[in-house]
Amino acid sequence: MEDQLQGTFAEVLQRNPGEVELHQAVREVFESLVPVLRKNPQYTEAAVLERICEPERQIIFRVPWVDDSGQVRINRGFRVEYNSALGPYKGGLRFHPSVYLGTVKFLGFEQVFKNALTGLPIGGGKGGSDFDPRGRSDGEVMRFCQSFMTELYRHIGEYTDVPAGDIGVGAREIGFLFGQYKRITNRYESGVLTGKGLTWGGSLVRKEATGYGCVIFADRMLATRSESLDGLRVSISGSGNVAIYAAEKAQQLGSRVITFSDSSGYVVDEAGIDLDLLKQIKEVERGRVSDYVDRRPGARFVTEGNLWEVPTDVALPCATQNELTDKDAERLVANGVRAVAEGANMPCTREAVALLREHRVLFGPGKAANAGGVATSALEMQQNASRDSWSFDYTEQRLGEIMATIHDQCLATADEYDAPGDYVVGANVGGFTRVADAIISLGVV
Ligand code: GLU
Repeated sequence: MEDQLQGTFAEVLQRNPGEVELHQAVREVFESLVPVLRKNPQYTEAAVLERICEPERQIIFRVPWVDDSGQVRINRGFRVEYNSALGPYKGGLRFHPSVYLGTVKFLGFEQVFKNALTGLPIGGGKGGSDFDPRGRSDGEVMRFCQSFMTELYRHIGEYTDVPAGDIGVGAREIGFLFGQYKRITNRYESGVLTGKGLTWGGSLVRKEATGYGCVIFADRMLATRSESLDGLRVSISGSGNVAIYAAEKAQQLGSRVITFSDSSGYVVDEAGIDLDLLKQIKEVERGRVSDYVDRRPGARFVTEGNLWEVPTDVALPCATQNELTDKDAERLVANGVRAVAEGANMPCTREAVALLREHRVLFGPGKAANAGGVATSALEMQQNASRDSWSFDYTEQRLGEIMATIHDQCLATADEYDAPGDYVVGANVGGFTRVADAIISLGVV
């Protein structure tokens, strides 16, 4: 890194002590920016780097609620409104016991660049809580969501900040959150949240969009080497929304999807996974992945090591941050992996990414490869603003065009900066310049 970048990075470390995921995310972007700053002195003059690293607003609040046994519980709620140069803050809410301010900040930072890459008018933000929805009754989840929104409502709005889902927040939680927002404000303001149910302002394809988009991106990367997903083995980690719909699109494109996982272990199904069964277990029963093998002869549930040991052609990490390490990357390379696309946010460690790039494995960073989810959220906002709802086919076509454009622009930007085929450079530089130019145009605000 150059002096200026190093100086700003040191400030980020000092200002945000202990927030290691944020440090990792900032460093990764900075490493792509050396030639950009050389070519564009206006970014340095206007202190764009410093401004992009400091969230515009950070909100932390207490979330009190009462569990089914009558006991009062306290969680911590967060919303980090990172950057609104391109549009209202936009990004999901994560409910998971591991969530702390550093998680929300790293996700918010990534979201700024991801949202810029979509080409749609959305800024970046993120939120969440250390609340663990697992094992909680519907009533407990509802009371938690109502309490969370009782504070959050004053900070959000269709033109201000538009939350959505992330890990632990799906249609059920968005429903409870929207209901409470509506009650407090007495406004049916559909555009205040995305990921809504289809009968109350949601968009077709939103549920599928992150996974579908990731697979479309991977297929387009393969096409640059005259390959396609058709006939390839695909390994997917996770078993949430992103993983399930990545598997669905990969199967539609002719791949054999052989793995999925949760925090208790992973499943290998060499025959190709039975998606209806997986959906039944995860979406209807809210069960664990081990339930799958009880009903699927030939499938194995493994609790030792991890699924990246299984030889595969394409790896789609769709679980959580830093789940794929350099050791995993080494194994994938040794087994002949051709492409890795990040369905989750920052699932590959810094060392894993370096190794994959070194071995010229096609690598789609999350900012680009998983941008289909938030892009379709922006399409949901468009439909809400025009009080319209689009067909599945039309919405999916729009998603396909957006993913193709993100892919092609990443390549074009990488070429422009002498890094042909490097999607990390393409995504970081493309996202950064779009936000940076808007920041300068809007003055010192
Ligand atoms: N949580 C998703 C992401 O990481 C989606 C955010 C949204 O739809 O606003 O991009």
